[in-house]
Amino acid sequence: FSQPRQQQKPVQASLIEKTLTKNPKPLVADKDLIFGHTFTDHMLTVPWTKSDGWGKPQIKPYGPLSLDPSCSVFHYAFECFEGLKAYKDANGKIRLFRPNMNMARMNASTQSLNLPQFNGDEMLKCIEELIKTDKRWIPSKPGYSLYIRPAVIATEPTLGVHESRSALFFCICSPCGPYFPTGFTAVKLFANTERVRAWKGGMGNRKVGGNYAPSVLPQVEAAAKGYQQVLWTIGEDYELMEVGTMNLFVYWTNEKGEKELITPELDGTILPGVTRDSILKLAKSWGEFKVTEGKINMKQITKASDENRLHEVFGAGTACVVTPVKAIHFKGKDYDVPLNPNDPSSETGPLTKRLYDTLSKIQYGEIPHEWSITV
Ligand code: PMP
Repeated sequence: FSQPRQQQKPVQASLIEKTLTKNPKPLVADKDLIFGHTFTDHMLTVPWTKSDGWGKPQIKPYGPLSLDPSCSVFHYAFECFEGLKAYKDANGKIRLFRPNMNMARMNASTQSLNLPQFNGDEMLKCIEELIKTDKRWIPSKPGYSLYIRPAVIATEPTLGVHESRSALFFCICSPCGPYFPTGFTAVKLFANTERVRAWKGGMGNRKVGGNYAPSVLPQVEAAAKGYQQVLWTIGEDYELMEVGTMNLFVYWTNEKGEKELITPELDGTILPGVTRDSILKLAKSWGEFKVTEGKINMKQITKASDENRLHEVFGAGTACVVTPVKAIHFKGKDYDVPLNPNDPSSETGPLTKRLYDTLSKIQYGEIPHEWSITV
């Protein structure tokens, strides 16, 4: 008889081992923060092996990982990640916004990559411990926050496209400033009609590294033409998908004459954004206009623009909350989005601004809400 296989161990926050840095770094002045450039003093790592399961979570000084160059992460984009923020409220308390959704989304990503899953509550406890350890790095100015980047990588040091029998969860943190330091700046979109970001049956609904590297060249090409973001479309009708790395929302008067806020439905090609879900729930709770998860294509957009039925377009995501859109380039022509007809110089429409204000106030604890949890 062979030995029964040892049971795989779950992640256990109670086992965290902490090694504090002997050389804490000087804080970077708020005004000098560039998104994703500054990192805190510590990081969290949790190793995993197929034979044993999750090992001891470790909080240790921030620094390079030592990995064999044969590890599958380096060859086959065997990786997934998350992005969320910690906010300091007016009372100095640390807050997270719906972090359980990030844990669930990460487990969906690891599942798709045949990487290990974990108990989201326990992993979140480990991340919270890291945030508390580095709390001096969370800026307290309004609009500032600590960006939190968990990732899981495949670390089996063998070539060959096959399952990885070892993996590493790690989490790093980066203090960041407001996305729009001088107020909203509306962007122009370039509708890409040549490449697709994701497709039915693909991985568009997962936050896997492999989705992101190929999106950079179209982004660079759009920027060279004077457009700040790519509008991803799919199919013969150029159905709208996402904008850059944000979910897309259109506020319009639809063909039936109804005021409607519409965002592409989660058909497997769209990332299920935390901000997207929050906007849908908020807008539905207001009950002032129709709120739809559905399909909308470029023909409908250009027609609505020509008939003055296109009111507001915006991207939505953790980094910016919302980004207003002022024009969409499609097949050689710019279609304007009026934003605010009462104030042509405005860089945001009233609905976009209202959603921004409401979500930010919830995130910073100014509006009490179950979505905002204290650490
Ligand atoms: N779409 C893509 C492709 C993204 O990478 C992100 C950022 N995670 C989003 C949408 C927005 O998601 P969230 O609101 O959870 O940040």
